[in-house]
Amino acid sequence: MTWLELAPADPFGIQTLPYGVIHTPALSGCAVRIGDRALPLYPAASTLRPELAWLLDGSTLDRLLAAGPQAWSAIRLAVTEWLSEDRDRSVIEPLLVDLKDVSMRLPFTVADYVDFYASANHAANVGRILRPDAEPLPPNWKHLPIGYHGRSGTVVASGTGIRRPNGQRKEGEDVLFGPTARLDLEAEVGFVVGVGSAMGTPVAVDAFDRHVFGAVLLNDWSARDIQAWEYVPLGPFLGKSFATSISGWITPLAALTHARVAGPLRSPKPLPYLDDRGSSWNLDLTLEVRLNGELLSRPPFASMYWTPAQMLAHLTVNGASCRSGDLFGSGTVSGSERGQVGSLLELSWAGREPFLLSDGVERTFLQDGDRVSITATAPGPAGSVIGIAEVSGHILPAAR
Ligand code: MN
Repeated sequence: MTWLELAPADPFGIQTLPYGVIHTPALSGCAVRIGDRALPLYPAASTLRPELAWLLDGSTLDRLLAAGPQAWSAIRLAVTEWLSEDRDRSVIEPLLVDLKDVSMRLPFTVADYVDFYASANHAANVGRILRPDAEPLPPNWKHLPIGYHGRSGTVVASGTGIRRPNGQRKEGEDVLFGPTARLDLEAEVGFVVGVGSAMGTPVAVDAFDRHVFGAVLLNDWSARDIQAWEYVPLGPFLGKSFATSISGWITPLAALTHARVAGPLRSPKPLPYLDDRGSSWNLDLTLEVRLNGELLSRPPFASMYWTPAQMLAHLTVNGASCRSGDLFGSGTVSGSERGQVGSLLELSWAGREPFLLSDGVERTFLQDGDRVSITATAPGPAGSVIGIAEVSGHILPAAR
């Protein structure tokens, strides 16, 4: 129980406590979110737990991420005590700032960024759209989590405006250059590596929580026309590298233990290094995708075929290292129904079946000025709800 007055159903109650980097005219630095407020961590720790303060100093969460699971537990326990014990209230309460007075910074230095393709529903939908005469899933899909290397330098924090990219696209026999006409969102969950691994030492599927610090929501903005023209044979490139947005607040894995559920039945049986029976990190998160405030879909993350633990095991099985600050996306999260898809490509079936907004306007892809927001919740302890902080972005017109 916290001494703050929070509704019992608040998804950012004391059961959640995500970490971010805040900026106000008076201060900036590492913080924890509680309800609609942020607690700056360095001044709190300096007074109450000086031996932990160095991990919370600076303009990113990088030190905390690299410190590893014991430090993560110690700090989460300390913050929980500060917010629940009357003894600490006189120190903590004056430090709290309203989120409305805060802007969010990118919370960590993104090392490598990789994006997977782990939803069978999404991959099959894309297959049906792009290759209607072939099997929806490629032959490798159920043997390994497919991924591609993205661009870490263009990962941005929630709230950053997204400039419509220019690029090549093919129309009929012509190759044109100009602003994408098919700008899309991809609703995903991203995972942030805290403790890296050495080259030559794969991360076992059951070692996930010794390496991964937490989860964010991720919007893998995609220019479908640029992507369609460039992606054979090496995969997505400029159609996605212009921007990737993530939540300003990272939800620690410690807040997601009640959201762990068994994985799906997989056939064929995965190879031993991907066998996660007994240690599944399938997570029961329900995403919500909104366009200009209107709910478009509710993608269920528990419907993913591959879990983030399998993704990390696959990412490192060839001897590749991972580094503190690595970010990997799950791939678009799509359920089996139309109201559960995580992209406009699927919702509009590649533009062939426009969807209707509540004002009666038909839509396919994103327009300048559109605002996209993705939020999520998960089950928490004792019937509580865990909120995964929003990732949002608005579309700016293309550069001329
Ligand atoms: Mn993606």
